[in-house]
Amino acid sequence: AKEKGFGKREFFTGEMNAFSLERLRLEGFLRKAIQKGELLPFFQPQICMKTEKIIGFEALIRWQHPELGLISPMQFIPLAEEIGLIDEIGRFVLFESCKQLKQWHDEDKDHLSISVNVSSRQFQRLSFVYEVKEVLELTGIPAHCLNLELTESTMIHNVEYSISIMEELRELGVKLSIDDFGTGYSSLSYLKDLPVDSLKIDQSFIRHLSEDYFNTSDAAIIKAIIMMCEGLSLTTVAEGVETFEQLKLLQEYGCHHAQGYIISKPMPSIEADVFLKFYSLT
Ligand code: C2E
Ligand code: CA
Ligand code: CA
Ligand code: CA
Repeated sequence: AKEKGFGKREFFTGEMNAFSLERLRLEGFLRKAIQKGELLPFFQPQICMKTEKIIGFEALIRWQHPELGLISPMQFIPLAEEIGLIDEIGRFVLFESCKQLKQWHDEDKDHLSISVNVSSRQFQRLSFVYEVKEVLELTGIPAHCLNLELTESTMIHNVEYSISIMEELRELGVKLSIDDFGTGYSSLSYLKDLPVDSLKIDQSFIRHLSEDYFNTSDAAIIKAIIMMCEGLSLTTVAEGVETFEQLKLLQEYGCHHAQGYIISKPMPSIEADVFLKFYSLT
């Protein structure tokens, strides 16, 4: 086992060097990406389980690099956090997403809402509430149509401070939701104190959900989360719904909203436009 461990470490060191170079290159590119217009939000629809209608979209950032191609946020968001670019990227996504929503509202789709991911660093900034207020004013969307997604680790970092910021955001009229619920720590002890409106059941619980006799534990957890949210008056959103079977089961369990490949992958705004037109016909 010792030998295996040693070999592993050597391999890892090699990886690190290659990784550092790659990282350095990415870092340089990322610094220019916003100015060059290479970053853009994609939009993934969310539906209401009762009506099966689209109620809004989650904005998910994409980086379209001319040579490297489409780069996943999993690759550059952590990097952006480290090198201090996340503030700029965060403001950009928020503004672009609200602008897009405003356009949809102007096209008579004013029932739609937009969900935007907020990184930990962005949330901890003293000016964050002001930035949100400013974006609402600049774009003119109603505050209740903006939903900010926060992860447990973001909020639990400094609970009292986080709660005060969340309360300020809610005073603006903005909605808040807990993203990736169930993957963080201390979830339950803080949940009752967190001023949030909805909770997104992490896709890791949804992924294996089926009527399969051999997998009842994910179903049990999902049902428990939904029941708990019912008691706390929180809206439940299932993310990563990939099959019709999962959609039907979640509907049966009383989950309020759903999002996932079964409905649509995240797409650029032009495609989302078409999707909205097509979807409203069915
Ligand atoms: P997330 O907020 O949990 O977003 C959900 C991720 O699941 C997205 O990956 C989405 O494309 C993917 N997804 C949606 N439906 C399905 C499905 O049915 N099956 C599977 N397998 N995956 C599905 P994406 O777009 O690659 O984003 C990854 C993560 O990057 C996000 O996780 C979020 O944490 C972060 N992120 C994305 N955009 C932003 C942003 O604008 N700001 C910040 N701070 N973070 C972002
Ligand atoms: Ca999210
Ligand atoms: Ca999530
Ligand atoms: Ca996630």
